[in-house]
Amino acid sequence: MSAELIKEKQVYLFEEGNASMVKLLGGKGGNLAEMTALGLPIPPGFTITTDACKNYYKQGGSLSGELQSEMRRAVSAIEKVKDCRFGDGERPLLVSVRSGSVTSMPGMMDTILNLGLNDETVKGLAQQTNNDSFAYDCYRRFIGMFGEIVLGIPSILFSRQLEELKSHASRDSDQEVTAGEWKQLTGLYKMLVKEHSGKEFPQDVYQQLNMAVGAVFRSWNNARAKVYRKLYSIPHDQGTAVNVQSMVFGNRGEDCGTGVLFTRNPSNGAKELYGEYLINAQGEDVVAGLRTPRKLGELKDEMPEVYGQLAAAAAGLEAHYRDMQDIEFTIENRTLYLLQTRSGKRTAQAAVKIAVDLYEEGAITKEEAVNRIDVSHLDQLLHRSIAPLEELKPLAIGLPASPGGASGMIALDAEIAETWKHNGKNVMLVSAETSPEDIHGILAAEGVLTGRGGMTSHAAVVARGMGKPCVCGCDQLSIDAEQRTIHLGDYVLKEGDVISIDGTSGRVYAGSVPLSDPEMTPELLKLLGLADEIRELNIYANADTPHDARISRQFGAEGIGLCRTEHMFFSDTRLPIVQSMILADSREERISLLERILPMQQSDFEDMFEAMDGLQVTIRLLDPPLHEFLPNLEQLEEQLRRLKLRGGDIEEEKRLKHMIAKIRSLQERNPMLGLRGCRLGIQFPEIYDMQIEAVFRAAKSVAHRRIEVRPEIMIPLVGDPRELKQLRALVDKVASQVLGEEFKTISYRVGTMIEVPRAAVMADKIAEHADFFSFGTNDLTQMTFGYSRDDAEGKFLSSYLDRNILSENPFQMLDQEGVGKLIEWAVTKGKGKKSFLKTGLCGEHGGDQSSIFFCQQVGLDYVSCSPYRIPYARMAAAQAVIASRGEAASTKAEAVALPSE
Ligand code: ADP
Ligand code: MG
Ligand code: MG
Repeated sequence: MSAELIKEKQVYLFEEGNASMVKLLGGKGGNLAEMTALGLPIPPGFTITTDACKNYYKQGGSLSGELQSEMRRAVSAIEKVKDCRFGDGERPLLVSVRSGSVTSMPGMMDTILNLGLNDETVKGLAQQTNNDSFAYDCYRRFIGMFGEIVLGIPSILFSRQLEELKSHASRDSDQEVTAGEWKQLTGLYKMLVKEHSGKEFPQDVYQQLNMAVGAVFRSWNNARAKVYRKLYSIPHDQGTAVNVQSMVFGNRGEDCGTGVLFTRNPSNGAKELYGEYLINAQGEDVVAGLRTPRKLGELKDEMPEVYGQLAAAAAGLEAHYRDMQDIEFTIENRTLYLLQTRSGKRTAQAAVKIAVDLYEEGAITKEEAVNRIDVSHLDQLLHRSIAPLEELKPLAIGLPASPGGASGMIALDAEIAETWKHNGKNVMLVSAETSPEDIHGILAAEGVLTGRGGMTSHAAVVARGMGKPCVCGCDQLSIDAEQRTIHLGDYVLKEGDVISIDGTSGRVYAGSVPLSDPEMTPELLKLLGLADEIRELNIYANADTPHDARISRQFGAEGIGLCRTEHMFFSDTRLPIVQSMILADSREERISLLERILPMQQSDFEDMFEAMDGLQVTIRLLDPPLHEFLPNLEQLEEQLRRLKLRGGDIEEEKRLKHMIAKIRSLQERNPMLGLRGCRLGIQFPEIYDMQIEAVFRAAKSVAHRRIEVRPEIMIPLVGDPRELKQLRALVDKVASQVLGEEFKTISYRVGTMIEVPRAAVMADKIAEHADFFSFGTNDLTQMTFGYSRDDAEGKFLSSYLDRNILSENPFQMLDQEGVGKLIEWAVTKGKGKKSFLKTGLCGEHGGDQSSIFFCQQVGLDYVSCSPYRIPYARMAAAQAVIASRGEAASTKAEAVALPSE
């Protein structure tokens, strides 16, 4: 960004903008303009652009003369419409000054209400409304907000004075406070302001406005906003717009109120109006979570006409934006006003249901439905939940604000939550009320429990966004901050005690309770079905056990792309035999031990084939270096030492010595680059021989049971075509021996992993002997970078990321510029040699969205990932197709037109 100021128009009346101008007007401003154009009841106002915010920072924190005169002109435009004047002693115009960023950041920045009140105008407001108590309540709210946000005076000082005054006058609630007392409070507040800022509270309304606008610009850089931006990768140079809007009052009496509503249920996606409101209250009261609000349904009985108008507006807005909306409204003397709409934040579960429903209602296309889902949220759907057990008695019940089950140690503030989390503990953030300042605590916690605040409170919104279970408004909860204890009804718990919450039902339990495995909802199945119609990549699973194979099939895997046979060697009963086989002195001895392992492997493979009936199963022959199966050397030496001290058992001593010597002889300087993979297979052919035999015996046996079997044998770590040539000959030989007659009916494939850079470079020669390539991107990344993953992640990777030498961890996100180039090269060379060569990717990158996009781009045939990642990969693969068709461009443009906030 250059230091030059942006000279464009910096202020837009709501009549002048629309929703496509979000970058300039922010989400809130763009939508207020759009709603104005739709003819909805929006209090008039204007938006100061994000460019003006950038200018403000460039000018070292001051408003330019041009901006100030543009603002004055816009204020007079409002004055005309409202027939009142800013700063007028009789008919004063009052405004709110509201932040509004381009990307939604609910509650992260500041808003000031009732601006334009001073010692004179407050009298006009009182006279005009014939309500002194209301007018002075507004004034003291304004001084408090202005003092806190603009002048940086801690809000506790204001609320303390309010509490003192109330207790002095024996007032239980704000409603009982008299006009005279409110007036007295405004005096006290002004003294506070003077004491803390050294200046009088500003009486000039334009000075108030300028200061407030500057403060909102500055709130872009407050701590919580920065944390939030970092968390959601929102660019720091985007800046915020500011909306100045004429006030409407929900706090003028019993026929007034304020609330928030979602056009569908943001927790489960049900098609119903879902909202909360407070009678006789001002905006912040609902979202700040200070009072627990009432359900929107009650408004239907209380003010049926208003409810009817609200329902109609909600339906209209949802149809217009073609997405679920989150709407703020205020009722002043039974007249409805809308103050904000944005596409509503929702849980993953709700996102899926809403996308499917909107598709079925004909509002959006299949591609749009698929693109509406943030794949990273799919994990939340596969969250575990608390099984509804009869015998489980809850300690208390609150509002089910964000679904899922969680257990953790009670932490009473965000700092403790962070510290404990840092020490590897699971924590539950428990607080009286929810404040956006707790965001780092929510981030650290497994879940959140609060005493006050509704489901639309900021903390609930933030928790849902992060997929953390949350129970709000649990009024049985009280907290003793000094004793560091909490009361839940009759129960007393200490900070550090473990509790569990069920954010789906609102229940709170003592201790940790059992969680049940996730299930796929009918909506998710439907949406994945739509994704399957779009995607081109096949999705396979990395599964080593029949159990994993079955799970991956449930999640929609179309085959197994990687079955690591070494995992089958690790069970208690097998490991000793495997160890003896490795330690064997002669080939004969090794073969006889392998013969004992063979039936075990065979039965594993039979189970796998059975689970995957009709689908391909790719079996990788033994890959890791043999010492990984052997006992720990230090422990053995220690054992030997003790045995010698005790004396005796010469046989045992001999056995230990032999084992130690053998392990020493197998030790390598650099096992990752040592005797492993196909090198092992060539050095000890009897091991691969046994594994291949087990595969084909299993294939033959299940085929006899009329199960369709499609084995694929994968040779790891090939770096030279001759390695593959030799081993392929071994596979073909064993296959024909074992299968005999069936050789003609059971078809199998032989392929290789491409994980050594040399194999990628020589892909055409390798392809001569391969039916498929599977890019093992974990090793390929290690060897291309020359990093061993454990050492890199343990020693220097994070500093590389901090220093911007790397922008991502290449083990999580495929390095497209380097490793990716090798893949592209190998695909082109390989397919050039053999057009039917099948290519795919296995490794952790198979479960990463950007890597999946890359696979689509370079034309791979499949991606293989862990079982629980399959739904994610199916969605990401569909989105990759949409992106590659350039349809992303149009949906992206629309996402700008349908902003959130
Ligand atoms: P946030 O981004 O924190 O929701 P907003 O700018 O939306 O901040 O404002 C906070 C609260 O004040 C909201 O409930 C909003 O409805 C209310 N509010 C804002 N402007 C006005 C206004 N002109 N009249 C009445 N209430 C308002
Ligand atoms: Mg708002
Ligand atoms: Mg490997």
